[in-house]
Amino acid sequence: MADLRDASGAWQEYRPVQNTLSSRQIRLCDMTFEDLNLNTPLLNALSDLGFTQPTPIQQKVFSVVMSGRDVVGIAQTGTGKTFAYLLPILRQLTFSKQKEPRVLIVVPTRELVVQLVGEIRKLTPYMTTRVEGVYGGTNINTQKLLLVNGVDVLVATPGRLVDLAMCRALNLKYIRQFVIDEVDEMLNLGFRAQLTNILDMLPRKRQNLLFSATMTEEVDEMIGIFFNAPVNIEAVRAGTPLERIEQSAYRVPNFFTKINLLEYLLGADDTMQKVLIFGPSKRMADVIYDRLEARFPDQFEIVHSNKSQNFRMNAVAKFEKGLLRGLITTDLLARGLDVSDVTHVINVDTPAEPETYIHRIGRTGRADRDGMAVLFVTEAEQAAQEAIETLMQKEIPLLPLPGDLDISDQLTEDERFTVPEVQVKLPARPTGAFHEKKAKNKKVNKGNKTKFLREKKYKKPIKKGGKKR
Ligand code: AMP
Repeated sequence: MADLRDASGAWQEYRPVQNTLSSRQIRLCDMTFEDLNLNTPLLNALSDLGFTQPTPIQQKVFSVVMSGRDVVGIAQTGTGKTFAYLLPILRQLTFSKQKEPRVLIVVPTRELVVQLVGEIRKLTPYMTTRVEGVYGGTNINTQKLLLVNGVDVLVATPGRLVDLAMCRALNLKYIRQFVIDEVDEMLNLGFRAQLTNILDMLPRKRQNLLFSATMTEEVDEMIGIFFNAPVNIEAVRAGTPLERIEQSAYRVPNFFTKINLLEYLLGADDTMQKVLIFGPSKRMADVIYDRLEARFPDQFEIVHSNKSQNFRMNAVAKFEKGLLRGLITTDLLARGLDVSDVTHVINVDTPAEPETYIHRIGRTGRADRDGMAVLFVTEAEQAAQEAIETLMQKEIPLLPLPGDLDISDQLTEDERFTVPEVQVKLPARPTGAFHEKKAKNKKVNKGNKTKFLREKKYKKPIKKGGKKR
């Protein structure tokens, strides 16, 4: 079938292919992976995975990366964006005994490093690709040893990467392709300085591939500084929720009633089998966990940045394998992490940033699965809900609270100190004065009283520093 290159070997312009599959499935192109210029080891690996057709972003990114140009991909997780950059990179990677890595992929969290290394291994069982992942929170010396025997593709979190390069355990001089995935999240997490450091250490002649779920000003600025006329490729317009997610919302008076509702729904709905629960903060996530643990012992686990790295990895692995009914977390896991078959995403808080909501609910309804997203909204959070609906250009259907739900009157510290915004309707102001001012209110403010008295005494204006002159 059609090669994307013309007879002279030049790459043809990308022509969009109509999506023929149901919109409730992951969007796939008409073409098959065989139509992309992939090699047999990659085709065999894809076939083992049961993937036959590329997604639109995979098709678009493939030809551009092969042409050597820089790419800026705006793509949410769930669009197939990871394979979109991995396939052309692996297609171009030749066997080498060189110890220094040639491909560098930077991602924001340790979990993503582990996941990405796994994805690369899935694609390379028929290749001799050496792939390693390095991340903070573990012994740096163990990770130095990983690099000793040589690496082709290195996946890293920014901080640990800089540390390894600084102590010369890692040489970045031979990097030919540099991928920054989830760059918006990386900047949110405050990795800007490390990213700049890394970019400064890389050779000038290289290909840059940047992927972000949203295009922020900061991301745009970074592209302007470090990228060379990149090709912009957008998979799903940022803010467009995946169509196969069924969304609903509940208006709930306060946080503790939200926990009651969560407990109620989990008790009543046994289709909630692989549930990702987002809490507003680590402390509140702990509160949610304690309540669920008491009601549903050993069915839930909690993951946030105060938990050790091993604990986090184990909990995510157990959740992924279906050994847990649910995982409670904060926005640490909202992006990137690919856990399959999540049946429900429950937002105990309504995120203030509408994009965060989109990322959270993107954990369900992935690949060809349907998913449910539930949002709990207090009165104070209604503006945030409206912002989400505006971004999606879609209202989230409101469900009534169950009649027998226990409404709590316990308030969190935040709720106690948040004075509800009361709309006070002021009477129309009369246009003229309606009573005579009292004498004390008629006084004119003359400013500095001491100065005024001194000026009165000496009968002339007193200037500051006048004595010295
Ligand atoms: P991503 O957007 O990269 O996080 O990928 C989302 C999910 O889609 C992952 O579970 C992939 O394994 C899966 N996936 C990626 N490419 C394809 C494809 N061409 N066909 C079917 N599923 C895919």
